Amino acid sequence: MNPAAVDQTCPLYLGGKWKEVAGRGSSQVFNPSRGTVIASVPMCGAAEVNEVVAAARAAFPDWRDTPPNERAQVLFRLKILLEDAFEELCLGISTEHGKTLSEARGDLRRGIEVVEFACGIPTLLMGESLENIARGIDCHTDRHPLGVVAGICPFNFPALVPMWMWPIAIACGNTFVLKPSEKVPLTMQRVVGLLEKAGLPPGVLNIVHGGRECVDALLEHPDVAAISFVGSTPVAREIHRKGTSHGKRVQAAGGAKNFVILMPDADVDRTVEAVKDGAFGCAGERCMAGSTAVAVGEAGDKLLPALADLVGAMKVGPTDIRDSQPDMGAVISAEHKARVSGLVDAGEHAGAKVLTDGRKTKVDAAPDGFFLGPTVIDHVTPDNPLMGTEVFGPVLAVLRAKTLEDAISLANRQAFGNGASIFTSSGKAAREFRRNVSAGMVGINVGVPAPLAYFPFSGWNDSFFGDLHIQGKEGVEFFTKRKTTTTRWFSFGDGEVWAR
Ligand code: NAD
Repeated sequence: MNPAAVDQTCPLYLGGKWKEVAGRGSSQVFNPSRGTVIASVPMCGAAEVNEVVAAARAAFPDWRDTPPNERAQVLFRLKILLEDAFEELCLGISTEHGKTLSEARGDLRRGIEVVEFACGIPTLLMGESLENIARGIDCHTDRHPLGVVAGICPFNFPALVPMWMWPIAIACGNTFVLKPSEKVPLTMQRVVGLLEKAGLPPGVLNIVHGGRECVDALLEHPDVAAISFVGSTPVAREIHRKGTSHGKRVQAAGGAKNFVILMPDADVDRTVEAVKDGAFGCAGERCMAGSTAVAVGEAGDKLLPALADLVGAMKVGPTDIRDSQPDMGAVISAEHKARVSGLVDAGEHAGAKVLTDGRKTKVDAAPDGFFLGPTVIDHVTPDNPLMGTEVFGPVLAVLRAKTLEDAISLANRQAFGNGASIFTSSGKAAREFRRNVSAGMVGINVGVPAPLAYFPFSGWNDSFFGDLHIQGKEGVEFFTKRKTTTTRWFSFGDGEVWAR
């Protein structure tokens, strides 16, 4: 934690220019693999937000009037530039987040897919029309951008989550203010350089940094028309409440506790591999992590020994060196490491049995990194402290149930509703699960059923607040408003213009 190690600041980006912020407190950005500080982020407030929103507002009229196919050309060029810079950006993601390079590649690849989706904006923006709704009268609806819109992001996907938002928003003709996570601000800082090269006009995408004060200023700003938020449930709920009370359109994706139902007829090898990836990919710091397994009947005895062996063999280590990558990296901070470890302690204390223990994992090559090994903890009961909260770390809690119906009812008792998966070879069981589980994204023999860019990221219950989800056609709907025009032209004879 040596401040002298800080080699980077995070200026504001507004109207196509970088601007250092003076006189504000700052937050530190770590390389979680090493426990060292790599940058500092200014904690901005209303003054900086006003400046950045003003830049976005000034750029809006010209960008709105830029034809959709011209706006799409910027995104086509950006896609190529992102591909060229792909590996370098991914190493940056691994360094500021701690996830492995292969997970960082997934993070950016999914983000690029949103850019590809947004390249189709001329088609996606098309309206509807009906000729002759009454004699001589036609009606059509078209889509218009909202104006200045803002995105507020979590730490766990430094590329993907911001890119869920701004490619679609700007393709629709809006100008954008991005507030990246103060824990991982560097990836988007690098992408800005590519957007400039792609020819994005100044002021179309802008960046402000900070925490609650900065977010509140965005929520209260009269020139911000819509807020796209992704983060934890308590903050998402509050953002939705405050944003809508200020007359804004809000989509707010929250936290999760995703259940994975293991049926006795599941394919053992493929299931344990998928459950391992679902629980421990990105060190469990995924809103679609399969963090809670329910073993039905004899599924526990059939699958858990193989799962424990596989998990026990995982290598944990630093992810910031290209040529030597572990199976799992560090968690985001020392505080988060302590929180996750404490939850496992509490879970064990309440009677659950630790099968694979990651609490004491040491990494000799990087002794100051924020490492936890993967933990599998069995015989967790619904009243166990591990069940009352989103753990968001490399911990798989296993519950036992007698029947599929019991397992679904365990899953439906919790407040979240992001994802849920079942592993089975029975079509009947899969169908019953898909119909009855109270979650918005369902996997059948798929551990992480995260939809690609063309589909909505459709969380339910306490995992989402709002009406229109992020991504896909719902994303286009969110960032546009409709105008319906009814037209009647009087006959030539009445006007007498053409006859003369
Ligand atoms: P977080 O809620 O702590 O922070 C998210 C953003 O909100 C950050 O930009 C932060 O600066 C800001 N923020 C924090 N506290 C605030 C407050 N009181 N008022 C206003 N703004 C505030 O989340 P995080 O720890 O960065 O990210 C992890 C969380 O995000 C997990 O709960 C995870 O499940 C969730 N997540 C959800 C999805 C989804 O699609 N549902 C996707 C990714 C992550």
